[in-house]
Formats: sequence, structure tokens, C-alpha cells
Amino acid sequence: MTRSSRPKAPAATAPSTLKSFNPQTGAVMREIQTHSPEEVKDAVERARKVAPEWAAIPVEGRARILREVRYRMYELMDEIVETVASETGKPRTEALAHDVLPTLVQFLWYEKTAAKALRSQKIGRFAGPLLGMSSHIDWRPFGVVGCITPWNYPITNCFLAVTAPLFAGNVVVIKPSEVTPGCGELIKQILEPLPAGVATVVQGGADVGAALVDAPCDKISFVGSPATGRKICAAAAKHLTPVVMELGGKDATIVLEDADLDVASSGVLWGSFFNAGQTCYSIERAFVVDAVADEFKEKLLEKLGTLKQESDADVGTLSFSRQLDIVSEQVEDAAAKGAKVLAGGPGAGHENADGTLWYAPTIIEGVTDDMSVVKDESFGPILALTRVRDEAEAIDRANEGPNLTASVWTKDRRAAVRVADQLRAGSVTMNDLSLSAGAPWGPWGGVGESGYGRLNGELGLREFSVPVHVQRNTMPGMKRMHWYPYSDATQAVLRAATDLVGNKSLGTKMSAVGRLAKNAGRTIKDKI
Ligand code: NAD
Repeated sequence: MTRSSRPKAPAATAPSTLKSFNPQTGAVMREIQTHSPEEVKDAVERARKVAPEWAAIPVEGRARILREVRYRMYELMDEIVETVASETGKPRTEALAHDVLPTLVQFLWYEKTAAKALRSQKIGRFAGPLLGMSSHIDWRPFGVVGCITPWNYPITNCFLAVTAPLFAGNVVVIKPSEVTPGCGELIKQILEPLPAGVATVVQGGADVGAALVDAPCDKISFVGSPATGRKICAAAAKHLTPVVMELGGKDATIVLEDADLDVASSGVLWGSFFNAGQTCYSIERAFVVDAVADEFKEKLLEKLGTLKQESDADVGTLSFSRQLDIVSEQVEDAAAKGAKVLAGGPGAGHENADGTLWYAPTIIEGVTDDMSVVKDESFGPILALTRVRDEAEAIDRANEGPNLTASVWTKDRRAAVRVADQLRAGSVTMNDLSLSAGAPWGPWGGVGESGYGRLNGELGLREFSVPVHVQRNTMPGMKRMHWYPYSDATQAVLRAATDLVGNKSLGTKMSAVGRLAKNAGRTIKDKI
């Protein structure tokens, strides 16, 4: 099959079946039935009926049920690795390392921590008693959370969107990516230990995702591109549905003069090319200070030369044709506008016969702002290497973003902190890459164009909880001073309280205490 006749990205209106396609061989492995928009609405209605029962189970009880999901995932491990690798084109090692292990870790972490994070919280310890009020926050579930997820880590990124809502007591309706429908079927199997209706998977493309948003749900948990994120925000606005947006980036790394260049070059190489660069936080831009730029480049290219790009080796294929088109166009555009392709690029590596989607890991330098590789997310195996004068220029360039994550390499701890403090990103990392989904204790999310809201961590659980302020009058037999009727005594009490809170002078504050004591009893007595 030639490139032009290779199966294209699924159309905006989903067909009645989705093709499970192997990008390493070009073979269609199976076809999977999609859901209609009406079926999606039915699924949300069924979920809504089950929601109160799931929410009524204490967090510890939910955690015990969800533990069975972790065990189920472990039982299915080999099948998950096989399906993820064959549908995305990534090596089996990556499927195990990035799609199985982090999800197991995430479940385990929530099992251990969810009850504490979602415990009611006493607040207003000082002001409450003065006003005769006791207050706490109850973290209550939203109800039905619609989870819409991408194909690059079809298991991990699905559970990134799904796990926190479930632990927080929500039910979920999940729309996995149409690019990896076999993984979507596996997600159904993984979630089988849950009571019926608590987690439902609907399969299909953009129209099925749009139907889920329009159902409507009580919250949307979205992981995907900024372009789709914008559409979902607009559609959710119709129902005022709150959304969490986990989007992409053009993530930067900075290599300073005193970095361990051996470690930094290995880290940047991996950070740019794991999962063939199809990672929301893969390094797309590296800024290296002038003094070490040549040596760093030499090490990077030498190591790149040792990578194997073949079935189940170091670097897999791109996962679907849209990515191959984007990557090819960006590199061709950059080369045409004067960038130098140091490695990879058009014509390097495998020929894309038989519908396969290989693209050689590519390093370019000399990029300029008019190139699409600078302006747009690549989400593929392209690293733009840029020589900078010094640390200050590196930070400025890195912050041109958007960065979902950013990193800095240096042996000087103070310099590392100084740079990290100035980087504009959702996660900043010193001498490594962000651990992302592998660190479920950390909040995960972006800034600006890379998204908002947080998944993972305690903040992730609370993202899917409504913080209800529960208040109890500790003097229930007494009427309140600010109730009807408004009298001179009421005015005097309010004026005294205002003086106490706002006035600088100690004398005025002391006189306010006296006025309060004098008028409080009188105003309460007068209340109707
Ligand atoms: P995408 O935006 O094309 O699709 C994501 C999901 O949205 C899919 O399930 C798709 O069917 C659905 N969708 C498409 N149009 C829709 C609509 N109008 N209404 C509702 N749903 C709709 O993204 P993708 O190509 O699957 O994934 C790649 C993108 O995801 C990249 O930009 C990447 O950076 C980003 N990403 C972000 C994170 C993160 O954690 N921040 C993680 C992985 C990927």
C-alpha cells in the first residue's frame, strides 16, 4: 500500500465500525462496532441512575472494589501489552513500562490515599466559633463524568482521566480514542469488576465524543489536543458543564554549561523519542548554552546513531497516518526554510510501504519562528536543537511554550532551582523528565495552551469532587444580630465589627469591643 492509499485518520462522522490497525505492518487486525449518539445518551442516563448508589459507598469500600480492577488489569497484562504495541506501533517494553505499570501504580496509590484526601475537612476554626458557626468541607461527587481520551497511551491516558473520578465517587462514561479501538475493548474488560453502570465504554469518533459532552454529563475529563479541547469547551458551555483540559505542549528542555553532558544527552534523547515522540510531554525543543552546544550535539547524535528503529526495538512507528503527515510536513517545511536536518528526516529509515508508518528520529537545528515545527506541536520524533547565549536566553526561549512540562540540566543545585522557578509549565523537573502518570502523587496538568485543571494527586481527586461547605449553627436557640428588624443597635453592632476588622488604631478597636458588648444583647432581643 502506498502512503496515499494508506487508511486515513477516522472521519469526523464515525463509521459503524472502527478498524484496529497495526502501523508496523499495515494490517487491519479487527473491526469494532461503534455506538450511535443515541446509545451514548442512553449510557449516560443509565449511569446517572447508578450514580447515587456508587456515591453512597464510603471511600474505603469503593477503594476495595477498585482494587479488583487493579488485579484484573494485572491478569490481562500480556493481552494489554500485545494490543497496545500492535495498535500504536510502540515496542512491547514501552507498552509494559508506560501503559501497564503506571496504571497499576496509580490505582495502588489511590487505594492507599483516597480516603484521607476525601475526608471531611474542618474549616474556620477561628472565625466560626465567634459567629456561633461550625464549618467543614464535604467532598461530594459530581455524578456522571464523561471521559474522552487519546490514543498515544491508550490505557494510561484513559485511566489518567478515569481513575480519580471513580475513587471520588463518580460514575464514568468513557470514550476512548477511535485510533485504538482494540484497547477500548480491553478497557471494558479491565473495568468488569465494577458494578454494572459504574463505568461504561462507548466506542466511536468525534461525533460520539460530542454526543457524550452534549448528553450532558456533570463533568468532562478530557485528555487530547488543544483544537479538540476548544470544541469541547464550547459545547460544554451550553450546559455549563465544568471541564478538565489535559492538552498538548511544545515542551522545552535547557542544558546549562555545567550539565553532566553524558546524562543530559541520554535523557534528552529518550525524552524526545520515546513512544516515537508521541507523548504530550516529550521534549520538542532543546536550548543548549553556547559553551557546550557542540559537545552536547555530538553526544546526542552519536547516541541517536545507536538506536534501533524496527519492530519491537527502541523506537516504534507513528501510530496513525495523521501524525505521519504532520511530522513529514513540519520537517519538509523547516528544511525548505533553511533549517539543517542533522539526523533522520525525509528518506531516512524505513520506506513506508504496505501502509506502515515509520519515521526516523529526526534532529534539526537552525529553526526560525516562521516554521511550523516551531509554532505547532509535532507529537512525533522531531527534536529542534537551538544554541543559546546563556541561561537567561534559554529561559526566555523555553517560555515561548506552550509547555506542559519543562526541564533543566545542570550540576549546580542553585542554578537548577533558579531556572526551574522561572519556567512556565505545569511540571518542572531538574536533571530528568517529569514522571507524569508514573507519579500519581503529583498533580498533572498544564498552563495556558497546555490546559487547566489537574488529574492525579490529591488535587486530582478533589478536581472530581464538589467542595460542599457544610455549616452548623452552634447556638440554634438564638436569633441572629443581622436578621430583621434593622435597628440603631444593629447598626452600632455592625459598625463596631467593621472597626474591629478594618481599623488600624488600637484605641478604636478597644472602643469597638465596648460598643459590641453594649449593643449585642439589645439587638438580639429586638429580633422578630
Ligand atoms: P484529539 O484531540 O484528536 O482526540 C482526543 C479525543 O477527543 C478522541 O477520543 C477523539 O475522538 C475525541 N474528540 C475529537 N473531536 C471531538 C469533539 N468534537 N467532541 C468530543 N470529543 C472529540 O487528540 P489525539 O490525537 O487523540 O491525542 C493527541 C493530543 O493529545 C496531543 O495534542 C497530545 O499532546 C495530547 N495529549 C495530552 C495529554 C496530557 O496529559 N496533557 C496526554 C496525552 C495526549
